[in-house]
Amino acid sequence: MDLKLTGKTALVTGSTKGIGRAIAESLAAEGANVIINGRTMPAVEQVSAEIMAKFPHIKALAAPFDLSVEKERQELFELFPEIDILINNMGIFEPATFSELELDDWRYYFEVNSLAGLALSNFYLPKMLKKDDNGRIIFIASEAAIMPSAEMPHYSMTKTMNLSLAKTLSWETRATSVTVNTVMPGSTLTEGVVNMLLKLYPDLSPVEAEKKFMATNRSSSVIQRLIRPWEIGNFVCFVASPLAGAFSGEALRMDGGLVPTIF
Ligand code: NAD
Repeated sequence: MDLKLTGKTALVTGSTKGIGRAIAESLAAEGANVIINGRTMPAVEQVSAEIMAKFPHIKALAAPFDLSVEKERQELFELFPEIDILINNMGIFEPATFSELELDDWRYYFEVNSLAGLALSNFYLPKMLKKDDNGRIIFIASEAAIMPSAEMPHYSMTKTMNLSLAKTLSWETRATSVTVNTVMPGSTLTEGVVNMLLKLYPDLSPVEAEKKFMATNRSSSVIQRLIRPWEIGNFVCFVASPLAGAFSGEALRMDGGLVPTIF
């Protein structure tokens, strides 16, 4: 299938590793130019070079900015005033119980996981609407958006906010070819998750540790394995395609059955 992404320009926030990098690679494989974002120039340059070596027909451009900081967002906007696709992927997470969290922790999670994506959308959506050529905004939330986790209440709250925001932004796109949607991955095998498994089960092999983690900590998952980043990457790439123009304001689950809904 030709996803008709050749020549489009996509900004993937937080794309130096994990799910963001996988999304950037899927888009590059389909012929889109990708703007790689992380907080340091060396990391961003390295990933851009690796992606261009793998997909020499596209451009991978460097955006070394901490997008939770207003001043750095302005620098991004000056460097890249127009894009076709915005993937609000960047996000932070670490376990903490409600009683351990201070107000400043909640504030920081809000700044990184919610407000940054809102600010980027505020800047790019009006331009996409004006161009009216299949512009796309996709938020990467989490199953925690609809099944809040007691392990990460602050994270869960910010992910629910992604859903609400994407829905209201989608109404702004009425009768245009632009869409705004959310993708909700379940537990995915990124570097952070690998490290967590190593800490939890130092004596088990990676395969055994994954099995035990799923059976113990993610027992409602039907697939009983961690999702691979490329699976999310390919799905997001499809949603970003002009072929997926009938998804609007949707909260799209890709969680291996982790959220125990009937339908
Ligand atoms: P990760 O930690 O592997 O990668 C995060 C990326 O974001 C990195 O490139 C990092 O440099 C970048 N980043 C972090 N803060 C930044 C900032 N302030 N400015 C710019 N870049 C910043 O994360 P991941 O596991 O790939 O998760 C990506 C997204 O997917 C997050 O929004 C996360 O909530 C969501 N998600 C992850 C999982 C999972 O199991 N890994 C499950 C559901 C949802």
